[in-house]
Amino acid sequence: MGMTIKRYCPACGAELDEEGICARETCPRRKLQLDAKAKKEAAEKAKTK
Ligand SMILES: [Zn+2]
Repeated sequence: MGMTIKRYCPACGAELDEEGICARETCPRRKLQLDAKAKKEAAEKAKTK
């Protein structure tokens, strides 16, 4: 119940969102995370086809 554990990016120290993605737009790690997420979502879409 409202037990949100705050996590921080090991690369830049910014807070992570609920999906564990860095909140800093210029972060290189965030870019990798978004790429991985997009790939994962594309794979899931392909599955439900
Ligand atoms: Zn970061």
